[in-house]
This record gives sequence, C-alpha cells and structure tokens, in this order.
Amino acid sequence: MSYYRAPLDNINFTLFDVLDAGRLAQCERFAEATPETLKAIIEEAGKLAENVLLPANKAGDSQGCSYDPETHSVKTADGFKEAYQTYREAGWSGLTASPEFGGQGLPHLLKFTIDELVCSSNLSFGMYPGLSHGAISALTEHASPELQQQYLGKLVAGDWSGTMCLTEPQCGTDLGLIRTRAQPAADGSYEITGTKIWITGGEHDMVENIIHLVLAKLPDAPEGTSGISLFVVPKFLLDGSRNTVFCGGLEHKMGINGSSTCVMNFEGARGWLVGEPNKGLRCMFTMMNAARLMVGIQGLGLAETGYQVSLDFARQRLQGRSVSGPKNPDGPADPIIVHPNVRRMLLRQKVIIEGSRAMVYWTGLHLDLSHADADEDRRHKSDDIVQLMTPVVKAFLTDEGFFSCDQALQVMGGAGFTRDWPVEQLLRDGRIARIYEGTNGIQALDLVGRKLLMRGGRLPGTYNAEMNDMLAGVGNEEHKQACGVFMKSLNNALTWLMSNAMTDPEQAATVAPILLRMYALTTLAVLWAKMADQSQKPETTEQYSSGFLQGKRKAANHFFSLFTPEIQALEVELSAGKDTIMAFADEEF
Ligand SMILES: Cc1cc2nc3c(=O)[nH]c(=O)nc-3n(C[C@H](O)[C@H](O)[C@H](O)COP(=O)(O)OP(=O)(O)OC[C@H]3O[C@@H](n4cnc5c(N)ncnc54)[C@H](O)[C@@H]3O)c2cc1C
Repeated sequence: MSYYRAPLDNINFTLFDVLDAGRLAQCERFAEATPETLKAIIEEAGKLAENVLLPANKAGDSQGCSYDPETHSVKTADGFKEAYQTYREAGWSGLTASPEFGGQGLPHLLKFTIDELVCSSNLSFGMYPGLSHGAISALTEHASPELQQQYLGKLVAGDWSGTMCLTEPQCGTDLGLIRTRAQPAADGSYEITGTKIWITGGEHDMVENIIHLVLAKLPDAPEGTSGISLFVVPKFLLDGSRNTVFCGGLEHKMGINGSSTCVMNFEGARGWLVGEPNKGLRCMFTMMNAARLMVGIQGLGLAETGYQVSLDFARQRLQGRSVSGPKNPDGPADPIIVHPNVRRMLLRQKVIIEGSRAMVYWTGLHLDLSHADADEDRRHKSDDIVQLMTPVVKAFLTDEGFFSCDQALQVMGGAGFTRDWPVEQLLRDGRIARIYEGTNGIQALDLVGRKLLMRGGRLPGTYNAEMNDMLAGVGNEEHKQACGVFMKSLNNALTWLMSNAMTDPEQAATVAPILLRMYALTTLAVLWAKMADQSQKPETTEQYSSGFLQGKRKAANHFFSLFTPEIQALEVELSAGKDTIMAFADEEF
C-alpha cells in the first residue's frame, strides 16, 4: 500500500516562494542551481522515495538486520541492497560533495529537501548514506590531501559507506571518558584498540568497504575532551586486506530496525590520524553539526508521513455525526474529519510540520550562503544563524516530530496502534532522534552555554535583525503584531538570562530547554507570517491551487491562536528559574 506522496507543492512553495532559494544561483559556486534545476532534481527524489525506498520500509521494520557471529557480518532486510544500488547509481550519494572528488557540488539546501523525502519514506535506509555524508564532510574539512585522495572518491560515489564511532559503554554524552587507545606505529599509522557501541552502519552488506571515523586517545593525551584524536579506520585496507575491526553484535532496538546498530571491536586495527593530535573533537564537530541538522529533518520527515496517513484516514473513516448536523447524510455516519477534536489534532500537525519545514530550510539556505555569498559580512551573518539554529532545529523538530506522529496515531484510534498501519512504526522510529547526535537536553545546553556566548554574544542580535528583515515585507498587521509578542517574550527571556544566569550556571542549565523552545516558536511565528503573506502574492496565486494558498493563511491564524499563549507562558516559566527544581534533596525525590 502506498501511503506517502512526496509533498512537492509544499516543498517548492517553501523553497522558492517563501525563502527565495533562487538567489543561490546568483552565487558563483551554485550558478547551476537554478530553481528549474532544483525542482527537477527534487521531483526525481520524490519518485525515488515513493517507488524505491517506501516499498523497502516494511521489511526493514519487520525483518530488521541479522548478524552472523561466525563471519561477524550483518545482512540488511530484503530490498535494502537493491534500493541502495539504485540510490548509488543515480548519484544521490555525492549531491553536495566537492566536484574534485566526483561530487556534484550542489547546495546543502537541496540535500535537506532530499533528506526529508528519504526520511519520510524509509528512515532506516536514510541512516546509511546519512552517516557517509558526515564522514565525507569531516574528511573534506580536516583530513590530509593524501587521506582525502585515498578515501573521498569511493565515499562520494557511494561505493563505500562511513560511520561515526564515538560512543563506548561508559561514555555517551561525556566523551572525555573515552577509553579507546591509539598506539603510534613505526610507519606513521596507529593501532586502534577498544570497543565502540551503538555504531550506526558499523557493519552491513550494501557496500564494498566501510570507513570508520573513530575517536581515540594517544598514549600521552591530556585527560578529558582535550585529549581526544580522530582516526580513519577502514574495514578493508587499501591493499584489499582485512583490517582488525569487527562487528561484535547488533543492538535490539525499539525502532529503526532496518538500520544496523553495532558493537564494534577494534583489535589493534590500523588507522590514520585525521587533523591534529588531541583536536579530534573539533574535527568530529564538523560531522556532528551536519548530522544534527540531518537528525532534525528526520523528525520532520516522519511527521509529514504521519500527517498524510492520518489525514487520509480521517477523510475516510465514518463515525458519528457532526455536532452541527450530518455532513454525509447519505452515508451511515460522517467522516471523522468533521469532528472538532479530530480537526484540532490534524491542524496541530499541519502548522508544526509546515512551520518546521520553513525553519529547517531557512537554516539550510543560510548554511549555503555562509559558504557561497560573495559578501564577507553576509557570509558571517549567515553562519551566525546556522550556529544558533543548529541545536534549535535538532531538538525542536525531533521533539515535535514525535509528538506530531502521536497526534496522527490518536486521529486513527485503535487502527493507529496496530501494525496494519504505518503510524506506530513512525513513533517507534522517531523516538531515537530525540536522543542520538546529542540528546535534546544537550542541544539546549549547547544553545545557552556555547551559541549565545559565541563571537562576543552577537548571535542573538543577528537573529533579531534577520527576523525583523523578514517581517518588514509582511503586510498583515495582526500577524506582525503577533510576531512582536513572540519576539518580546524571547528578548525578555534573554534579558532574564543575562541578569540571573551569568553568575549562576545552574540557572542557565535549568532554563535552557525553555529558551530553545522559545527560539523555535518565534522562528515559526515569523515564518508563518511570511508564508501567509506570500500566499497572496500574484506570482504565487498563478502556481498553486486556491485551497492550498487559503490553507496557508488559515494555518497561520491557527498557529498564532495556538502558540501565542504558549510563548507568554514559557516566558513566565523561564523567569521562575531553578528554585523549584534544584531545591530537592536526593531523599525528597
Ligand atoms: C539507535 C542508536 C544509534 C546510535 N548511533 C550512534 C553512532 O552511529 N555513533 C555513536 O558514536 N553513537 C551512536 N549512538 C549513541 C548516542 O549518540 C548516545 O546514545 C547519545 O549521545 C546519548 O548518550 P547515552 O545514551 O550514553 O546517554 P547518557 O550520556 O548516559 O545520558 C543520559 C541522560 O542524561 C542526560 N545528561 C547526560 N549528561 C548530561 C549533562 N552533562 N548535562 C545535562 N544532562 C545530561 C542526557 O541528556 C540524557 O537524558 C546511537 C544510539 C542509538 C540508540
């Protein structure tokens, strides 16, 4: 059963009408990325999602991956290998990678849209190329030219895949506790010894070779996070011989069953240093930043599928009569979409999904502009936005993506809870996105502890200016005023933080998740005002149906009615600070 259609109108409206992504083609680097080209590529990706990835999704969930302890090998579910082959042959692996290594050098923003389509149709599948993409970014930025020549071509082509090996049994969030060791060898390589756990794509049968990026400690390394180095450790060495890194087993998980999550044993495996000794965490951050935005998109992708399935269901399921009189008088009952309770659940999904899509694409646009804009000052400002928004996108989209799928399930009643329908899988698959790539609690600490203070504390100012710029063109005064309420609450919260948290880090840590949510909701408010405004422009009315465009305006009104009270409540909650939380002694829990 095909239950997902690529939301091309919504994607194109957001990209080209609201965010003016066409401006990327004015940058020298992206001269070929015209709206026509990007639209054509997105359409092709939609077909890949609907016709290749979606059909393999069910087997991924029900069969999962299987491990053979004799050979330490992992077999993926039926259809995955073939889907990967199609994906690789069509060139999707190297979309944004440098042409120097066989990539297409296209904008990250384009990849964001493709990632959404992949995650909506088969999240487990998307994990494999997702990790490779992170490895490509880290090697491109930090590896020596020699290592780049050796590894990037095959990774970019998708012949090889990549992993990210940080976590160990005693060390998750706190990477300073890493025990994996790297012993220098006479030939300039290193012998890597240790055990990594929960490694996505650590072993599988879809590629010729797997390239592990591994955090380990040199013999004389300082304690803690300043003593971590990054190494590239291939499964097969370049001469074709087997390296001594083996999969020791698979995790049994709540969801993303089609994605192999492995224990990886490094038994004196040969590796090569990436970047400088003891600076590995900085290199790994390149990979993690790309991955964090990608994980945010996972939340969005799953939520979109949940919305589509629950909306179709609500239009067809007949139960009860509308309280304002029958709407389907010839049938035995009305479709449940007539009931206010069901409409509320559907519309919450709609405003969150479409607002979140605009937020993450807007961040993706700035990611590209931060590299490609001809003006240096604008490049820096775009990078400010990316830095500030990365934790916000990751945490908000994964939290809200999960809650959105929960609303989808509730719309469907008991049917949603059964495996006959795909929504319970979305919930199981989506739960992990709130945990990996740094838990959402850690994202909030990143926002408050690092991003607000970065570059002399200028990031909030850049953000405010960008929000005001977007609002300047909005004609609807009510929407503008409503956005003013969001921005006022957010800035009051920042003032409170300055007065109360600078000398008391516990205050900052306590209110961090609240502030992160305020940033997300304020961004959505401004983007909803802009989407509603754009829906009335003559150039837009020519391209989209009137229902589509009126839906945008009504959704904007609904967003403000739902979330204006919340932003004010968040301000009050934030300014209550830590007292009622930190006052508890251990025995009082
Ligand atoms: C399916 C799956 C795939 C994964 N893939 C990979 C992978 O490919 N590579 C890899 O290296 N790892 C991977 N991981 C590991 C993942 O990144 C970690 O689970 C995650 O970073 C959290 O670490 P932890 O589970 O040890 O939780 P912990 O660090 O033990 O944290 C537990 C709780 O305490 C909170 N907490 C911890 N420290 C602090 C603090 N200082 N301040 C405030 N709160 C704190 C956390 O927010 C969390 O709520 C994967 C995990 C899973 C389940």
